[in-house]
Amino acid sequence: MYDVVVVGGGPAGLSAAVVLGRQRRRVLVVDAGEPRNARAAEMHMYLGRDGGSPAALLVDGRAEVDAYPTVERRIGRVVSVEGETDGFDVELVGAGRESARRLLLATGQMDTPADVPGLGERWGTSVFHCPFCHGYETTGKTLAVLGNGVGAMLAAYVRDRFSDDVVLCTNGPSTLPPPVAELLPARGISVVETPLTAVEGELDGLTLRFADGSSLARDAVYHRAPTHQSADLAAQLGAELLPDGCVQVDEFGRTTVAGVFAAGDSARLAALPDALTLVGPGAADGVRAAVWLEQELFRSELPFTPGG
Ligand SMILES: Cc1cc2nc3c(=O)[nH]c(=O)nc-3n(C[C@H](O)[C@H](O)[C@H](O)COP(=O)(O)OP(=O)(O)OC[C@H]3O[C@@H](n4cnc5c(N)ncnc54)[C@H](O)[C@@H]3O)c2cc1C
Repeated sequence: MYDVVVVGGGPAGLSAAVVLGRQRRRVLVVDAGEPRNARAAEMHMYLGRDGGSPAALLVDGRAEVDAYPTVERRIGRVVSVEGETDGFDVELVGAGRESARRLLLATGQMDTPADVPGLGERWGTSVFHCPFCHGYETTGKTLAVLGNGVGAMLAAYVRDRFSDDVVLCTNGPSTLPPPVAELLPARGISVVETPLTAVEGELDGLTLRFADGSSLARDAVYHRAPTHQSADLAAQLGAELLPDGCVQVDEFGRTTVAGVFAAGDSARLAALPDALTLVGPGAADGVRAAVWLEQELFRSELPFTPGG
């Protein structure tokens, strides 16, 4: 039996594995190898590696984990989990079952771009979801924002911060709430409601094609796509999920199921309006959850109940 199975080997899961390896816990990290930012060539806001490659971060992170002999890494996917408190079973696709005293879920989220030909293929290279991750590099460029309803506030944001040439494409009749609809023209943002049929070209040379035969040249597109959890393992265990699908955790990274911790994009505090889905916070979450998990394990092994 492992002390801990960590599911997910992105920044959150690998950071947790380093913490636990340094405490000489027997740990298994299972990773399907599809991190959320896999399509991006650059990663920003991670101190010491701003502008670096997200893939290189994980290569280095895996090497750091591998330096701890009690930690084992496996490429694979966990499909089911069951158990409680001090005994959990995890089932890996085509690789049998393993058991552990604690689980740490760091499975992340995935984005589902709108079903427009050419849009998904450009995800992370010329179609961007996040002005914090990509905004600075789009300063002064011609931008389109694909969105409708309250999601169109992203257009007002990138207009405010990065570019004075922003076109909002609602991809069908506008559902902008009145205050947003009034705000956009006042900020010099034009709105195109004609359905988008294709995105072609590359960064700094994109062509957006519309159903009426018209087209629009843009340097880059912003699109906040719906997200979904990459795995339903927390739900399988009966852990509380928040309305956005994130796993509810407390300040210690504990889910509502005893012995199960969660970290990274897939988990958040109920008090936050949204998950802070970034590499730095994900790695910090992994460290935090692993430290408290370790404390919990140690205390559970004592022959008395410690105070404090
Ligand atoms: C295009 C793009 C660009 C981004 N740029 C930035 C940026 O510049 N700066 C920044 O801070 N953030 C950026 N992000 C956000 C960043 O990618 C995430 O916040 C970060 O990856 C979260 O780390 P994580 O460990 O929680 O999840 P992930 O990195 O997504 O890792 C989760 C891992 O778990 C694995 N997994 C899932 N389910 C299972 C399972 N059942 N069994 C085994 N393994 C499983 C996945 O395959 C994956 O390898 C970007 C996101 C996108 C989409």
